[in-house]
Amino acid sequence: MKVTKADIVISAVGPAQYPDTGLPEIALAGRSNVGKSSFINKMIHRKGLARTSSKPGKTQTLNFYIIQELFYFVDVPGYGYAKVSKTERAKWGKMLETYFTERETLKAAISVVDLRHAPSREDVQMYEFLKYYNIPVIVVATKADKIPRSKWNKHVKQVKDGLDFDPNDEFVMFSSETGEGEKQAWQIIEKYIGY
Ligand code: GDP
Repeated sequence: MKVTKADIVISAVGPAQYPDTGLPEIALAGRSNVGKSSFINKMIHRKGLARTSSKPGKTQTLNFYIIQELFYFVDVPGYGYAKVSKTERAKWGKMLETYFTERETLKAAISVVDLRHAPSREDVQMYEFLKYYNIPVIVVATKADKIPRSKWNKHVKQVKDGLDFDPNDEFVMFSSETGEGEKQAWQIIEKYIGY
């Protein structure tokens, strides 16, 4: 997809604020600093639309970006925040659970992980959560430019083993620096949104 139009529509604090256009949604999850904003920005060729490095502890919202008036990227801010209180975390968890289990327009979730490292406990929990609710997952292993090509296979295996990756899901090696994986990621997203 050639993106010429992309905008943030709303940072929603609850379901009442979610868009009601019925357009398909692709959610994005990943711990903070993993490269989620850079992934969105690279995909839509807009440097600063998705905020990079969202600050831990700030209000947690679901951020809806409308792309080409065709679908939404729904940015699910980084999980695994140390600074958020237990009560806030529980509230946030509930909101996510409701979104992921009840949102009919949600077509797939992109789980952004770091190709350099074995998945964290939170990465694994998120993946298991999505699998449990039968949500198709696209694992995007980013920062591929930081690993020499000769070691890619080893790192892909490390990520897949760590997640107990389901071969029915999609896996994309990605780099926001080089554009590696961009085409493949678009092909998969287009399939899920019926483009
Ligand atoms: P977020 O918190 O998950 O949204 O992460 P950001 O997109 O803000 O990225 C965190 C840091 O990693 C920033 O300094 C980015 O420039 C860097 N980064 C993100 N993606 C890549 C990538 O593919 N390659 C490299 N080399 N750096 C990246």
